Amino acid sequence: GCPGRLLELKGNIRVLCRLRPGTPSSLVSSEPGPSGTVTTCYRGRQRRFRLDWVFSPEASQEEVFRELEPAVLSCLRGYSVCIFTYGQTGTGKTYSMEGPPEDPGIAPRALQSLFQEMGTGGHHRVTLSMVEIYNEAVRDLLAPGPPERLAVRQGPAGQGGIQVAGLTYWDVPNLETLHQMLSLGRSNRATAATTKNRHSSRSHALVTLTLRTAAPPRGPGTLHLVDLAGSERAWKAGAAGTSRGDRDGAQRLREARTINRSLLALGGVMAALRARRPHVPFRDSQLTRLLQPALGPGATAVLLLQISTRPEDLGETVCSLKFAERVG
Ligand code: ADP
Ligand code: MG
Repeated sequence: GCPGRLLELKGNIRVLCRLRPGTPSSLVSSEPGPSGTVTTCYRGRQRRFRLDWVFSPEASQEEVFRELEPAVLSCLRGYSVCIFTYGQTGTGKTYSMEGPPEDPGIAPRALQSLFQEMGTGGHHRVTLSMVEIYNEAVRDLLAPGPPERLAVRQGPAGQGGIQVAGLTYWDVPNLETLHQMLSLGRSNRATAATTKNRHSSRSHALVTLTLRTAAPPRGPGTLHLVDLAGSERAWKAGAAGTSRGDRDGAQRLREARTINRSLLALGGVMAALRARRPHVPFRDSQLTRLLQPALGPGATAVLLLQISTRPEDLGETVCSLKFAERVG
């Protein structure tokens, strides 16, 4: 494809939508393709949402990546790119981002594609960091010791950057090492999952790659791959929690509220960037604070909206589509 194409569209924010495969439903129907649509029928009202691209439920991992590859490769020309998977828990965010080993998703394909493009000349330097944000606490998933909560600070005046105190940045010499580090980070995330109820769907996971190539026209490029926490609304989580005792219920409600707040902040930032408003509310959540350097002018953000077609998920599906409508 044409590498410049994605960067010119829609104030550099693109919204793609992937439907979870399952029983087809007349309540959620789609017209796949560029400028595709999803039509919902909720509480007797029909609504049609237009997105930059709609993937059919049968779309392969390869098809999804093909749309993202030009943006991914633009990092080698010094661009900053953020790819998010957004949606209700169970709709396929992690499947799209990571994928099973036999059918890899966006992250492994992106790394493969970047390393292939860079070749073996050795004129590039790739740095990796990986964090998760859980209840607004930032943890390093690649720390050599036990993961500790890290402080997020504003960088030196004038540089406008963000510093995460103590975060480890790893030099990655080749693709094999990169894959090993990613699976290390993933297993560090999974360790917490056994101690905290369904932890991984309640946290945001951020993989950041910095790419310095031989003669960069614009300085280093960055790629952020963000598997967002489930977007289901707080009341639902709270209601689900009450059957498991008050403490558990209260904890779930707190988690859900912080997630909702951070996703709302992300939506606010994207909407402000899209409308080119002078004030962009980056400081409203740890997620947007961390991504502030990556979402500035000239950056590309891709939101991959994951939706369910199940009738019982319809309310959440409509909410996700409304979120997309606001930012795209
Ligand atoms: P999420 O991360 O949004 O909570 P997951 O990625 O864990 O959701 O997906 C939930 C389940 O659905 C998993 O078992 C996953 O393998 C399956 N799944 C999701 N999307 C697809 C797809 N496009 N094709 C096949 N299986 C999928
Ligand atoms: Mg997940």
